[in-house]
Amino acid sequence: MTDYSKCSLTRFPAPVLSQRAEPVGEITDDIRCLADQMIDLMVETEGVGFAAPQAGVNLRMFVVSLDGTRENARVYINPEMEVFGPQIAHEEGCLSLPGIYTPISRYAKCKVSATDLAGNRFTEEAEGLLARALQHEYDHLEGVMIKDRMSRPAKIRARRQLKQLIDEFNAGSAS
Ligand SMILES: [Zn+2]
Repeated sequence: MTDYSKCSLTRFPAPVLSQRAEPVGEITDDIRCLADQMIDLMVETEGVGFAAPQAGVNLRMFVVSLDGTRENARVYINPEMEVFGPQIAHEEGCLSLPGIYTPISRYAKCKVSATDLAGNRFTEEAEGLLARALQHEYDHLEGVMIKDRMSRPAKIRARRQLKQLIDEFNAGSAS
């Protein structure tokens, strides 16, 4: 039994954010509690998506809500992703990399198969902002963040911000 209700937002460079997450086993009350907590954290931080590693949990699940509301939040457990179409660059941010907004190339369309909280497998085809959000959250399950996908000049521009996050992380883990 893990108390996921105490999870909080993890920021770069927390190691959990750069690891490949593990598949979710049975969908227990703990997993439902984790989904709830992830939705709360997404709503609180005004995000449109939230992946379990961002709550410090190394599991393959994320939530997306394009308008940032609890009502429209959809939970994706053990997702599989296929991508289609041309890649389009658009400005993106990440709750785990505060202060960094940078153009990221994503595929125009994608198809996701995932399990919902009732244990049912579903498939969703997406384009536009939803396709972008799904690819961003899926990346988190592979230990990939926008800092890993941004262009070299963008990375140089973000260097000071990344260093500040590392300093804050080290100060936090030292206390
Ligand atoms: Zn993110």
